[in-house]
Amino acid sequence: LTISLRRGARLLSTAAEPIYRSPPPRVRNLIGGEFVESRSTESIDVVNPATQEIVSRVPLTTDEEFKAAVCAAKGAFRKWRTTPVTARQRVMLKLQELIRRDMDKLALNITTEQGKTLRDAQGDVFRGLEVVEHACGMATLQMGEYVSNVSNSIDTFSIREPLGVCAGICPFNFPAMIPLWMFPMAVTCGNTFILKPSEKDPGAAMMLAELAMEAGLPSGVLNIVHGTNNIVNNICDDDDIRAISFVGSNTAGMHIYARAAAKGKRVQSNMGAKNHAIIMPDANAQTTLNSLVAAGFGAAGQRCMALSTAVFVGGSGAWEDELLKHAEELKVNAGVETSTDLGPVISKQAKARICKLIQDGIESGARAVLDGRNIVVPGYENGNFVGPTILADVTADMECYKEEIFGPVLLCMQAESLDEAISIVNINKYGNGASIFTTSGVAARKFQNEIEAGQVGINVPIPVPLPFFSFTGSKASFAGDLNFYGKAGVHFYTQLKTVTQQWKDELPDQGVSLAMPTSH
Ligand code: NAD
Repeated sequence: LTISLRRGARLLSTAAEPIYRSPPPRVRNLIGGEFVESRSTESIDVVNPATQEIVSRVPLTTDEEFKAAVCAAKGAFRKWRTTPVTARQRVMLKLQELIRRDMDKLALNITTEQGKTLRDAQGDVFRGLEVVEHACGMATLQMGEYVSNVSNSIDTFSIREPLGVCAGICPFNFPAMIPLWMFPMAVTCGNTFILKPSEKDPGAAMMLAELAMEAGLPSGVLNIVHGTNNIVNNICDDDDIRAISFVGSNTAGMHIYARAAAKGKRVQSNMGAKNHAIIMPDANAQTTLNSLVAAGFGAAGQRCMALSTAVFVGGSGAWEDELLKHAEELKVNAGVETSTDLGPVISKQAKARICKLIQDGIESGARAVLDGRNIVVPGYENGNFVGPTILADVTADMECYKEEIFGPVLLCMQAESLDEAISIVNINKYGNGASIFTTSGVAARKFQNEIEAGQVGINVPIPVPLPFFSFTGSKASFAGDLNFYGKAGVHFYTQLKTVTQQWKDELPDQGVSLAMPTSH
């Protein structure tokens, strides 16, 4: 398995293809510090969603290769856990520099495989880069606590130790940011890692892994395997893997949470969303319109923090014309084209699903203020494009409201009062994010206190906190106790150990006492 490869030809391979046609390259596994070709005969096409060109093929990593990856991670842990935290941090310092150096390459890969605009792809990398920067302060972040002389010359202190081998399972919508939520925090805490990128767009994760190796991450500390359900089940079942970070849909997330928990593993599982904005009649009109359009249609709605539902207190009538005008101005095109506002959705199946939910909504009484289903983009006629779509008069019983659409569709609902609007949001099963637009501090404060969502925005459409806080989704949007990054992220990737020690010139002879020791 471990053949060394020329630099520059490390991530992808073309060897298995016939010589007479130009083949899409095959993505490699990363095992024990080597980018190696999988022996698997099965693979999945990575398709450019704007053109349908096959960019590469992802192998379904075999069980044997998976075991080799776990074995490499387990072996590397012995040395890595005792490597000083300052040395581990230094690898992250170098990694952040290399990510900045290769920002454009990473962004282009994301646009090619995922479809989002180049500017948005840079944002994808940048929000992940901030987690790498955060990991550079790990020595302080993982500090323990100390209480001196809790009893007769006895001191107690707590230390945070790495867990061992951890794993991460990624979704398609942030091909750089989400791998970077995971492995930099995990490895800087002293763990070793198995990453399973999305099979739809693994390229950015592979490039980041190569940068991590260039930054000096020792062999076996980060490993990459590929595939879908089978490899994920292997990760859940393996006794040597101690913790799993998952980001993706509820179907996969709850399956992984239950299966891995049954094996005694820690799991943090970030899942689906239906993020609401409440718009008060006193809201600043321009800010609100800009925010709704940007957060509803940006990244073609394929963000877990997209604002997909707007609840207008007093009705949406007064807002619809302007909303329509703003949405119609957006340019739908391939992400590589300059001035594109939103690119294609990830696959033909995703487009079909989004269009079906729009149709269901209209058939059950929603009014199409703007219908983006029949859009054709000149030069990219095969792309999976859906134009901005606005449905008004949406009610909570409609399928388009109950399901996460994950496309450029903004649902408009109405409420008589702030109380009614808050109750609409709170009844919804998801709780990733919610925002209010208002100029009233009283309304904002009531919203902040009463809303049941993990990430709250006040005149801020996408309130995703920077890495010194945590990504705090709640209700059905999150399963587990410890969120991604921030203090909770460090706690997730470390095990607390407490030490109680007694040091005295002469240890006291107190005889044998079978009573519970006390500090009297
Ligand atoms: P997905 O669940 O289809 O895939 C995510 C990962 O799980 C992939 O690596 C995939 O191979 C694996 N997987 C999929 N189905 C599986 C199954 N049945 N058994 C085992 N493994 C399985 O998600 P996606 O379509 O790639 O991503 C979109 C979803 O991710 C949306 O629901 C979105 O809201 C969510 N998301 C959430 C957050 C968050 O932080 N809450 C962030 C980004 C995306």
